[in-house]
Amino acid sequence: MILTKLRLHGFKSFVDPTELHIAPGLTGVVGPNGCGKSNLLEALRWVMGETSAKSMRGSGMEDVIFAGAATRPARHFAEVSLSIDNSARRAPAAFNRYETLDVIRRITRDAGSAFKANGDDVRARDIRMLFADAATGAHSPALVRQGQISELINAKPTARRSILEDAAGIGGLYQRRHEAELKLNAAETNLGRVADVIEQLD
Ligand code: ATP
Repeated sequence: MILTKLRLHGFKSFVDPTELHIAPGLTGVVGPNGCGKSNLLEALRWVMGETSAKSMRGSGMEDVIFAGAATRPARHFAEVSLSIDNSARRAPAAFNRYETLDVIRRITRDAGSAFKANGDDVRARDIRMLFADAATGAHSPALVRQGQISELINAKPTARRSILEDAAGIGGLYQRRHEAELKLNAAETNLGRVADVIEQLD
């Protein structure tokens, strides 16, 4: 999956619309302390469907909205959009008709967050699956945050295995298996209820 452009508006310290072109190959972000390097990486993870406010260094998801500064009032919304080059047509069927995929996540105070893909409303689950199937996503080892290398070195083998699984692109399959198991459990519970009703009728 080739990520080509990241746009931020009202996201953390990026209060004004900001566009970042992602060149092919390895991308590193350098700059003075506090200039927003980690915020950029968090914006990428957030638009890919991150659900944990804690891993975005906040106590609630609305903490990603620009909170105001001495000279600027707080914003009511934050929006991040990510452009993906899909010319190789590797996206899941629902998205595959687009040459370029534009995924947008927007959060509004007191109204939660929503996703769009090329202008259409889409579920968070579909967006997470899109990135998981492409061996990337909010927890992808391709996005290396500060301190992550030393965490990896000290990680337990099970944690390392999940990193390898993500890199191999089978994260989406695990997600589908989990959902299938939940449905199976629900169906078994329903069958149990039906059996009880039949027994009462007999
Ligand atoms: P370092 O090199 O020290 O790790 P960094 O370049 O990674 O720094 P970030 O941690 O990305 O910097 O950005 C920190 C800045 O973002 C701080 O100035 C902080 O006040 C600002 N910031 C974070 N969340 C918000 C928010 N919701 N509204 C406004 N500013 C925010």
